[in-house]
Amino acid sequence: MDLGIAGKWALVCAASKGLGKGCATALVREGVNVVITARGAEALEATAAELRKLNAAVQVRAVAGDITSEAGRSVALAAAPQVDILVNNAGGPPPGDFRDWRRENWLAAVEANMITPIELIRLTVDAMAERGFGRVVNITSSAVKAPIDFLGLSNGARSGLTGFVAGTARQARLASRNVTINNLLPGSFDTDRLRSGFSAVSAKSGQPLEAVMEARRKMIPAARFGTPDEFGAYCAWLCSQQASFVTGQNLLTDGGQYPGTY
Ligand code: NAP
Repeated sequence: MDLGIAGKWALVCAASKGLGKGCATALVREGVNVVITARGAEALEATAAELRKLNAAVQVRAVAGDITSEAGRSVALAAAPQVDILVNNAGGPPPGDFRDWRRENWLAAVEANMITPIELIRLTVDAMAERGFGRVVNITSSAVKAPIDFLGLSNGARSGLTGFVAGTARQARLASRNVTINNLLPGSFDTDRLRSGFSAVSAKSGQPLEAVMEARRKMIPAARFGTPDEFGAYCAWLCSQQASFVTGQNLLTDGGQYPGTY
């Protein structure tokens, strides 16, 4: 299927590896020019080089910086002539117990996983509406639908973003101008973040890493973890011309792990 987005410009945040990289890869395959960001310049440049090899017809710009800071967002936005597609992403908050978290822990989580995407939406969507095309995909988490107790910072901050998107995506001045805003909710995807979580469980419990991973795999009806490429393909479709009637949705991709009917 031709997604009809070749030649568009995308800002894909937090994309030197993992799910963000999966999204950038799928968009580049579709002929979309991308600005990718991450804090670590070396890994980011290596990813940019990989993306350029995938499709010589597109421009790939790498901007090192912390997307959760105003300065990081400014340089990222300045690197694209326009933003037709915005993929919001950042590192997730740390696990833990709410009894140990203080105001500054909550503010950091809200800054990274709620205010950062809201700010980037604010700075891009009205221009998208003027041009009559815009796609925003926020990478959130399955924890928004099925909370995970030790990820309280994530459950809370991402729920704030989810509520904001539910209202904003339905504004007529956006939806009627072909600007969609959706949240893509990953279950368990095989990325460094997932593996570092398993390593921590393994170290704490004394169980071998492979046993910890196998126990988690068994909880997924698909009996495996998702891949960043699968996640990216879903993201690229949400950014397509064909997806113009999909907005304000929370879309799970989790191999069937969420146990609810709705
Ligand atoms: P990952 O493999 O660890 O990759 C994270 C990427 O984000 C890296 O490129 C990292 O590069 C970049 N990054 C992190 N913080 C950043 C910041 N402040 N500014 C700019 N770039 C930043 O993680 P992932 O698994 O892809 O996870 C992506 C998001 O999805 C996270 O919010 C995570 O909580 C969420 N999620 C993941 C899963 C899963 O199964 N993988 C499930 C549910 C939710 P630098 O470190 O160099 O900045």
